[in-house]
Amino acid sequence: MSATDEPAPVLEAVDVTVHYPVHRARGETVHALESASLCLRPGRTVALVGESGSGKSTFARTLALAQQPTSGSVLLYGKPASARGRRARRAYARRVQMVLQDPFGSLNPLHRVRYLLERPLRLHGSVTDADALERRLRALLERVRLTPPERFLDAFPHELSGGQRQRVAIARALAVEPEVLLGDELVSMLDVSIRLEILNLLAALRDEGHLAMLYITHDIAGARYFADEIAVMYAGEIVEYGTAEDVTQAPAHPYTRLLLDSTPDPDRMEFLAGRAGRDDGTATAAAEGDYGEPPDLVHPPSGCRFHPRCPLARAACSTEQPPRVEVTERHWARCVLLMEPGDDASNEAATSGDTTTAEMTP
Ligand code: SF4
Repeated sequence: MSATDEPAPVLEAVDVTVHYPVHRARGETVHALESASLCLRPGRTVALVGESGSGKSTFARTLALAQQPTSGSVLLYGKPASARGRRARRAYARRVQMVLQDPFGSLNPLHRVRYLLERPLRLHGSVTDADALERRLRALLERVRLTPPERFLDAFPHELSGGQRQRVAIARALAVEPEVLLGDELVSMLDVSIRLEILNLLAALRDEGHLAMLYITHDIAGARYFADEIAVMYAGEIVEYGTAEDVTQAPAHPYTRLLLDSTPDPDRMEFLAGRAGRDDGTATAAAEGDYGEPPDLVHPPSGCRFHPRCPLARAACSTEQPPRVEVTERHWARCVLLMEPGDDASNEAATSGDTTTAEMTP
């Protein structure tokens, strides 16, 4: 699909920056998010990938308007989104829902599934009639493949498995028929055997309901199979963006390469074999697990934030912000290597005809 064929975005973040004051007397601030932009489109999934503390959850909370951006804006159908006041907050929550990582903590253990699903329906005034309410509850459970519904409606969360609880959490988010679903690491606490089932369920729900979906994860290999596009986040900045295929098969940023090299994926063996004998340093660093600690975001590194850990860093990387460089029409990254002749990625960029910082979607 070319950029012009794409459906219009439902939800957009435009140059969103979030700084938290942590110690006012010392003037210390956490630079959690810097000028991050992203588009969520109906029926499509964007995976936001990065390690813990990279700003992924802050980004999701900002899109959910649970976090006020320091600068930049969140647009719903092209207009500034607002959740000021109870009525506006509810109206927004009806369209944009978030599902959290922990199905054990996100469901109140004192309430039965029936109550947990009824609550959003009542709050948003979706149903008033008791029969209609019962039908909606059953339909919601069937939608997340918890069948027969009567087996689950009167259960308490502790009587369910982790996967079943996450299905209830997803059903609760779907109760208000949202247009956007923000999933924050929503399979990472589940057994590996159940993760695929939940991802398949989410993919089916996305396709059936034409949902725009943000899938936050640290698992770039899993993101490849589930998402249409991948944004790689490092220390509060999006450092690479492209189709899931491009980002995983032809990663342009050294951090993305490290993430991929740390995550065995049989389908990428051809790519890795192609790199055998000409390791640029990222594969060795990944194999040795020797690429340092995430940076302190109170005092983020100058220049490229990845430079203290980057096996390919140049002297200039510690002082100069890397520009955004288009690798192909729908794939960009922020790294000075893409500007240098002779680098694999820069050659690709050169053949695409543009190695400047020209803006592209999103
Ligand atoms: Fe590494 Fe420099 Fe590229 Fe940053 S700009 S990723 S430090 S080579």
